[in-house]
This record gives sequence, C-alpha cells and structure tokens, in this order.
Amino acid sequence: MRRISLRNLRLVGFIVCMIFLATIVSGCNSAATSTSDTEKRPIIVQGPMPIEAEKFAEKLNDMEVEESGNFVFYKGTIDEYPVIVTKTSKGMENTAAATALAIEKYDPIAIINQGTSGGHDPDLHVFDIVLGKRTVNIGSMKTASAEENEGMDPSLWKPMDLMASEGSAGEDPNAEKIRYFEGDDELLAAANAVKDQYKLGKVVEGTIGSADLWNNEVDRINWFHEKYGTSVEEMEGAAAAQISESYNVPFLGIRILSNNKTNDGQYNPETASANQDYVYLVLKEYISKLK
Ligand code: SAH
Repeated sequence: MRRISLRNLRLVGFIVCMIFLATIVSGCNSAATSTSDTEKRPIIVQGPMPIEAEKFAEKLNDMEVEESGNFVFYKGTIDEYPVIVTKTSKGMENTAAATALAIEKYDPIAIINQGTSGGHDPDLHVFDIVLGKRTVNIGSMKTASAEENEGMDPSLWKPMDLMASEGSAGEDPNAEKIRYFEGDDELLAAANAVKDQYKLGKVVEGTIGSADLWNNEVDRINWFHEKYGTSVEEMEGAAAAQISESYNVPFLGIRILSNNKTNDGQYNPETASANQDYVYLVLKEYISKLK
C-alpha cells in the first residue's frame, strides 16, 4: 500500500511539473509573438542618395544593415514598429529593382519614397514639401514622326503609358496617355496630420514627375507643369510607385524642393535632411494609427 501511494505521489508530482513547464514555455511563446517585430509587416522608407537615406537610418532603434547588390537596407524599429530604410541609389532602374527586392524580401505594409526634387510650380520654394497625391513618369514618351532634316521638337512629344497594353506601345493609340499612380489615402492622411509641425516651409499635396533626366530648360519645365500638372520633378518616385502598384502595396512619394529653376531657387543640399525629419513625423503618425 505504502509503495503504491509513493509511486502515485511521484506520478502526480511528475505530471504537475510537466504542466508547470508547459505553461511556462507557452507563456514565453505568446509573450514572444505579442512583442516580436518580425510578426509585423515593416514600413519601407526609400532615399536615393546617402544624404537622403542615412539621416533617417540613424533614427532607427536596434539598427542592422543588410546589403544586396547596390542597395543598402537599414533594418530597425520606430516606436517598436519595424521600419526598413533603403538606400536605393539614383534613378528609375535602381529604384524599381530596390522596390521589387524589398517587397519580395520583407513583405512591407507600405512604402514611402522620399528625397529632394526640382520645382515645376513657381509658387513652391526651396524647403517646401510636396506630398505625392499623384506620381507620374515624365520620361516615357513617343516623339512625333519626322523625316531626315525635318528636325526635332520635344513640345510635340506625346505621353506613352507603358502599362496600357500587352501590345506595341508605339502603335497602340490607347497607350498615348498619361498614367498617374495615386498616393495612398492613409499615408496621405498621416502626412497631412503632421504638416503643421514642419516649420521650414509649406507642405502641399501635388504631382511628382519622375524620369532619368534633369530638366534645366524653363520652357520644358513649364510644359510639364501645364500638360502633366507636375509640382516637382525627381528621378525615382514613379518607378517605386509603379512597382508598388503592381504588387498592391500602399505607396506615397514625399519630396522636398532642393531647387526651383522657375523662381531662381538655388540648389540646397540641406533640404535632404529636413525632409527626413518631416518623414520621421509622418511615420510616427502612421504607426500610431496602425497600433
Ligand atoms: N546636385 C546633386 C544632384 C543629384 S542627382 C549632385 O550633383 O549630387 C539627382 C538626384 O536629386 C536624384 O535622386 C533626384 O531625385 C534629385 N533631384 C533633385 N532635384 C532634381 C531636379 N531638378 N531634376 C531631377 N532630379 C532632381
């Protein structure tokens, strides 16, 4: 009798121990999942040049660097939410590739493309910021038809929508239209909510035009401003917007004017860091709404 009850006692003790251990382990697991940043889809913030990305990267907590090809991904957190800053390098091709890579690698909840730009709107000045209600490729064009010695005239060039059809963009008249990529409403709302905190200029909604091109002819700039409604030009936004749209990832371009040929606004590289300070506020606001 005594031996049996001792065995039973050990068995009960063993079972109690196992239940206790299992509770601790599952407790640890659920604590890990509720606070783990890896469970949350990160926000990507892109900047082309070192001066347009590194200041933002310094704002991240627990930052780690991951490199892939030409691209640098600074992975960290803001207010305990995962954020990945990408230095994409300049231009449409780098940006498109860095965007596709980031989407495949990190499954982001949203993408912000930010940096400097040149003004197309004479009412905007160096240090003003444009929120990309729309982003458009201003380098995708079809020229008029002309024979040898008939010259060339960029004012006759027509927009060419590369996404219009699977057929020839050169032959398809449906492709002769401007394709705008819409900025995401929630990102725009977050950006508008903090715009009064930006003191170095004004923050407006507008149209961001992108191409692997730096336009310095004021007549050409005015032509884009009238035909496309562009507020600013830069070399990346529309590439990131196009790839984000094809993967259905919410996107917003945020561009500060570093120069404006239409009103003699001289290039000022300090604008790059001012924009990052503003985008940081936008991110904190967006994250507070996600939580
Ligand atoms: N003055 C700088 C220019 C950088 S190249 C230098 O020599 O280093 C262009 C970069 O600045 C691109 O990433 C582009 O997005 C941005 N940019 C700023 N103003 C621009 C403008 N007027 N036209 C085109 N890109 C502009």
